[in-house]
Formats: sequence, C-alpha cells, structure tokens
Amino acid sequence: MTDVLLHSCCAPCSSAIIEWMLQNDYRPTIFYFNPNIFPQTEYLIRKNECKRYAQALGLTMIDGDYDHAGWRETVKGLEMEPERGARCQVCFDRRLAETAREAAKRGIRLFTTTLASSRWKDLVQIEKAGRAAQALYPTTEFWDKNWRKGGLQQRRNELLKANDFYNQLYCGCEFSMRRLPAEECQRLLQQACPIEL
Ligand code: SF4
Repeated sequence: MTDVLLHSCCAPCSSAIIEWMLQNDYRPTIFYFNPNIFPQTEYLIRKNECKRYAQALGLTMIDGDYDHAGWRETVKGLEMEPERGARCQVCFDRRLAETAREAAKRGIRLFTTTLASSRWKDLVQIEKAGRAAQALYPTTEFWDKNWRKGGLQQRRNELLKANDFYNQLYCGCEFSMRRLPAEECQRLLQQACPIEL
C-alpha cells in the first residue's frame, strides 16, 4: 500500500476520492486544513462531516489549525477578486503548502487535494499551488491526478446522497458568500456555533 496525505476540503468532495484510493492500494491519511472557511460555525460543520466519514472508514484524520485571521492577512488586498481569480490562487497556495509541510513532517511522500475534484475550481491554479508546495518541501511529491475523471464526479454525487452529507452552498470564505441570496447569508451568519473547536 502507498501512503498518501489527502488534503480534504469537505466530506462530499473527499468521499469518491477516498473510495477510489482504497480500491487501488493507496492508504489515505486525511488532512483537514481549511482556515479560509467562514463563519466558524460553517467550518465546524464541514470539519465534523469529514471526521464522521473518516471514522466510519477507520481512517486517520489530522485536524489542522483554524486561523481565519491569519488567512485573511494572506489574502489582504484581494477581497474583491472573483472566484477563480488571484485570491483563490493565494488560498490554494496556503492550504497546499501546509499539506506538504505536514506530509514532510510525517514522512509521507505523496500528497494531493480534494480541491481538484470540484468543477468550480481552476485545475491550473491547483496544480500550480501543488507544485509550489512540493518545491518548498523536496521530500514530498504533489500527485496531480485529475480527480474529475473516471466517473468520480458521478460517484461523488451518489456518496453524498448515500451518506446524507451536509452539502455546502458556497466555496468557503466570506467573499464567496456574495453569490448567496441575502437571506441565506444572514441565516448562516446568525446560526449559533453548535460545537467546540
Ligand atoms: S472563493 Fe474559495 S478558493 Fe477562492 S479564496 Fe474563497 S475559499 Fe478560497
């Protein structure tokens, strides 16, 4: 079995990739590192869905830090950028650099990300971030497999329903909430935080 550190953005996007890895002799360790997600309630819901799925499969999930203020600093000046623009590149760079750091620390050579499974995201940006992260930690290697192919998109949707996953309505940061109707945005911002960090 080949070990892989899998950066996970959420349970729905992780499910089909994890299933494929387990069927193809890879052993994924899940790394949940998404300081971009806002508000904290949303972050905790997404993280706990991921944890629930990892536990059901008996997989290890590493819980990365949630430093949203630090993430805001990294994207300063890019707040008005559109999705798939310069802010998203910085966001991917931050998350994949941390994934490569964690992989190097744990002696895992291969790392990849579930971000690449979403058709809303720019694969070129993700690959660029993966290669930059690999260069920072030379004992690691970014696995640039296209996770949208081989029926994985359809399987993702099947697993989403089968596991009754929470299905988020926006990418993650407060700037991506702009695409939501105003009432939905208010509801998300006002809901009480149900779980401790
Ligand atoms: S829209 Fe998504 S990828 Fe882009 S900066 Fe916000 S959270 Fe990151």
